[in-house]
Parts: sequence; C-alpha cells; structure tokens
Amino acid sequence: MNNINKKFLFIVGSQHLYGEEALAQVRSNAEKITSELNKFSLPYPIEFKGLATTPDEITKLMKEVNYDDSVAGVITWMHTFSPAKMWIRGTQLLQKPLLHLATQFNESIPWESIDMDFMNLNQAAHGDREYGYINARLDKRNKIIVGYWDDVEVKTDIAAWMDVAVAYEEGFKIKVARFGDNMRNVAVTDGDKVEAQIQFGWYVDYYGIGDLVEVVKEVSEEEINSVFSEYEELYEFEYGDYDKETWEKHVKVQAAYEIALKKFLAKGGYTAFSTNFEDLHGMDQLPGLAVQRLMAEGYGFAGEGDWKTAALDRFLKIMSHNQQTGFMEDYTYELARGREAILQSHMLEVDPTLAANKPRLVVSPLSIGDKADPARLVFDGVEGEGVAVSIADFGTHFKVLVNSISAFTPEEAAPNLPVARVMWKVNPGFKQGVHSWIENGGGHHTVASLALTVDQILDWTNMLDVETVLID
Ligand code: MN
Repeated sequence: MNNINKKFLFIVGSQHLYGEEALAQVRSNAEKITSELNKFSLPYPIEFKGLATTPDEITKLMKEVNYDDSVAGVITWMHTFSPAKMWIRGTQLLQKPLLHLATQFNESIPWESIDMDFMNLNQAAHGDREYGYINARLDKRNKIIVGYWDDVEVKTDIAAWMDVAVAYEEGFKIKVARFGDNMRNVAVTDGDKVEAQIQFGWYVDYYGIGDLVEVVKEVSEEEINSVFSEYEELYEFEYGDYDKETWEKHVKVQAAYEIALKKFLAKGGYTAFSTNFEDLHGMDQLPGLAVQRLMAEGYGFAGEGDWKTAALDRFLKIMSHNQQTGFMEDYTYELARGREAILQSHMLEVDPTLAANKPRLVVSPLSIGDKADPARLVFDGVEGEGVAVSIADFGTHFKVLVNSISAFTPEEAAPNLPVARVMWKVNPGFKQGVHSWIENGGGHHTVASLALTVDQILDWTNMLDVETVLID
C-alpha cells in the first residue's frame, strides 16, 4: 500500500594476508560491481558497506545491519579467501536474510597474464567454500547465487531474492483484523494464532462485526459519492434486472463498507483482514466489491475467518509488489480428458489484480444466507505461469503447500455466473497434482500469484525452516 523503502548492504570478504594494494583492488572491484548492479532494474538498491577483514569488523557490521530498519538483508561476496572463523560471531548475530553471491570480478581466466598475484586476488572459488562451510554449519539457511555477476540470469535471481527478503522483513509487521471467527465446522482454516505469530510474525486480532458497523454508520453521503465516481471510471456498470436506482443503492452500500473498512484498518495498523458471511449482524450485505477494492490496493484478505490465508495474501502481495496476486478458492473441476483444469473463484471476493479485462460491476443475490444482494466485480482471470500457496496447521507444525500452476483465460462465456473466475491447470499434471495436494492436506483456500516463482516461495520457507511440500 505504501512504497517500501529498503536497501541491501554489500559486504565483501577478504583478509590482510595479501597486502594493502590487494585490498584496495578488492574495494575498487566491489564498488564497480555495486554501481553496475544498481543500473540493472533491481527492486531495491544495493549499498557497498565495506570490506570484512577482521572478526571485530564483521561482528560490528552485522550488529548495525540488525538495528537499521532501512536494511532488508546482506549480500556477501568472497573476493579473496576470507578465513571463516572470523565470520562466526557476526553471522550468528545476523537476524536478516543473507545472500552469498558466489561470483568473481573477471568472467574468464586470463591465460596470457595470469600469475600468482592474480590467483590470490581472485580466489572466490576457494573463499566461497570456506565461507559456505560456516554458513552450513551454523544452519544459516542463506541463499546462494552462483555465476558471473553481470550475467542477466544472476541479476534476475538477485532481484527475485530481494523481493523475498523484503517480504520476510515486512512480514513481521503484518496485522490481521478478523471480523467474526472462522466459519462454523470448517477445519483447515483454523489454527494456532500464537504459533503463527512466533513462526511467521503475523499478529491476529478479533473484532465483532458490530465494531465495523459503527464505523459504517459514520460514513457520509459525500464520501460515498466520491468513491462511486471512481467506480464509474474503472468498471463497466451492469444493471441486469435491477432498475438504476436500486442498483446504485446496492453498490453504494459497498462503497460505505469500503470507506469504513479502510478507516478501521488504518486506525489499527492492519494490512490484512477476514470476514465471515455467517456473522453479518447489522450489515445489509456481505462485503464483496468493498473487499475487492481493498485487495486491489494491497490489503491481504481471505473469507470465512481464514486469518492464515489473509496474512499469506498480504505477505505475497508485498513480495510481488501487488501484481497478479490474490486469495483464491478451488471451486469446480473440469474433468474432460485433455482439458483437465480447476475453476477458481469465491462467493464474491476475487482479487482484481488477477483481472484480464475491465471488471463489470454487478449486483446479484448471494444464494447463501438471507442478506441483501451484494455488489461485486466480475471478470475473467489473466493467463500465465505461477504458484498457488496454502498454509495448513497440523497441530504439531505448520505445513506450506506450493503447487506450480498455469492459468489461462477461459474461452467459454458463463452468462449465469455472477462472480469473477480464474482457470488453471496444475503441475505436474491434473491427476498427480490434485492427488498430491489432497494427500498432503492442503486447504481449499490458497493465495495464487502469477508474478512469483516456486523458487521465491521456497526461499521464504527455507528462511523460516517450515515444512514445505512442493508439487511441481
Ligand atoms: Mn471460502
């Protein structure tokens, strides 16, 4: 929702064995790499912090990293051999994501001129192993990227890891407001909120829906009209069987919910929320359009009191810069041989960041419960490769499920379906993919992203050391 201002520190390992001239060269090469990497479209800047050549220097640097909120993580490079006993204390103290960039200043070995001075100056192959040993022994769970620093694949990998690291850091600030408890009788959306805060950093608070109703009552006509005029610009109005006046009345109820939700969440510092259609005392409609509008702004959400998925949604929206990422529910199978797929949707709350076309603003009965007909945005989902992620609580531990997916825009119209729809195929194939998901106890609520990769999700769960099942 707000721009996240973070940077990464580049710390280059060496030692004093090779003399001052060698260290000056190491410094100059590190500065060159920093400035070149910053010219690439990295999501966050890199700052060269200095050379690490003594235990005290390294320990001091890592302490600074921990206490500087503008720093999301550390990138290290072993330009020369850097004896790793020097790194033990600082690495133990480091509490932020660590990337070991296994690279070398020169791309190729200069056979014509290579001598022992060159070998001593450029011995990352040697230094990487010494440094990697201590990270492995300390179970640091750091990322390792191998390759020439100016190679586009290496730079792309650094960019992807930066997004994970920033999300990891910001994840500890996620606060979820739940309006109502979990849907009655439902198992997989429940779980241990204290353990979730310990492991993921997510802070989860309960509110009665009446607390929101009080704020809805205070919303002015003027505020509603201002939001309604935004709708006119962004969406196709579809009156259906309603006369214009009735339709507008229903839509403006959602506008009031949107305004009230934003005020409520901002006041409490919440960046994610959940609702429950079973708990709508004092509300005329289930929030639909209102929720979709907040999703589009970057708030995390899940239905039926599912606070785990709401927090995960916000988390992955940070990681993806709120691109093509949202809460989803597995709804209906397409089982025809050769066309197997899953229709993803929800009662109302499908994320507009996944829309392939200009959303239609529709009013329609909910068909569950006895509330007034809610307004919602209806659209078809975009196509692309991505991931579906879910978190289930197994009592003794959390399990993260990751399935790589291929989303596609449906060709058939669905004139009687008054909700947005996203279609996807699962890897490695329909039968095996669905079978594995069910066998591992994955939930029916997921967060899907077409902007994130399997590797990014695995980087995150590796940082956390949480059980992860990859279906790919
Ligand atoms: Mn649901």
